[in-house]
Amino acid sequence: MKRALAEAAAKLRDAEKVIVLSGAGASVESGIPDFRSAGGLWARFPPEEYATIEGFRADPRKVWNLWRELGAMMEDVRPNPGHLALADLERQGRLEAVITQNIDNLHQEAGNAKVIEYHGNARRLQCLQCHARRPLVIAEIQDSVPECQCGAVMKPDVVLFGENIPRHALFESEILAHACDAIIIVGTSAQVFPAAGIPYTAKENGAYVIECNLEATDFTRTITDAYLEGPAGTTLPELAAALANAG
Ligand code: NAD
Repeated sequence: MKRALAEAAAKLRDAEKVIVLSGAGASVESGIPDFRSAGGLWARFPPEEYATIEGFRADPRKVWNLWRELGAMMEDVRPNPGHLALADLERQGRLEAVITQNIDNLHQEAGNAKVIEYHGNARRLQCLQCHARRPLVIAEIQDSVPECQCGAVMKPDVVLFGENIPRHALFESEILAHACDAIIIVGTSAQVFPAAGIPYTAKENGAYVIECNLEATDFTRTITDAYLEGPAGTTLPELAAALANAG
């Protein structure tokens, strides 16, 4: 691990364009469970039932039970040291962009200015009928489902299973993956495509691949150059400190 950390820091020092791909694991230490955590949330609200566009269209009131709980949870959480380390790297001019699969707004809250919301943002609402968007106000979802000015029920502005990735996010991520010299993958299981394709594209185009996770993934077994095992709230600050020492 020490060798991987030193090598990763040296590569980051020499890289011109560094990007991050983050997933649910990046926010676990902030208190938002990932799909695997034994937090109970995903056992009570199975994603295949509560996180699909078909499920939402069929019964928005039922599906809002999950989003009401997630919305309240996201209102209370704060960025953890992993998020803050990435914001510092951007401030120092060492990080080009964060592509996140997360919908919790924590990279933005930590201070990263360039965040590509690959799966949307649960702090906003979107109307499926007239496509209007507006910020989520927690009070309005406490006892009811939010409605648009046009009268339709609004959904969280997130990409549900069965929906397309926003075109600008796909396009920008593709360009970044082709152009970067290094990619830091944080807390993603490598299972959800097309997001999971981004590191493979980066690698094919010559990027150095750093991965922070609690356990090995398909990336680790195929393309990862430096595997930093452990909670991202520890490994990312360690990586940032090693980079600062590398000059
Ligand atoms: P996932 O739940 O499939 O996998 C999470 C990964 O993070 C696992 O590999 C796990 O080992 C790792 N992990 C857990 N805790 C960690 C920690 N402290 N430090 C480092 N790694 C850690 O998540 P995914 O790959 O992102 O795919 C799930 C989909 O659901 C994505 O679209 C995701 O954004 C969405 N989701 C989002 C949130 C959120 O916004 N916070 C939460 C749950 C799910």
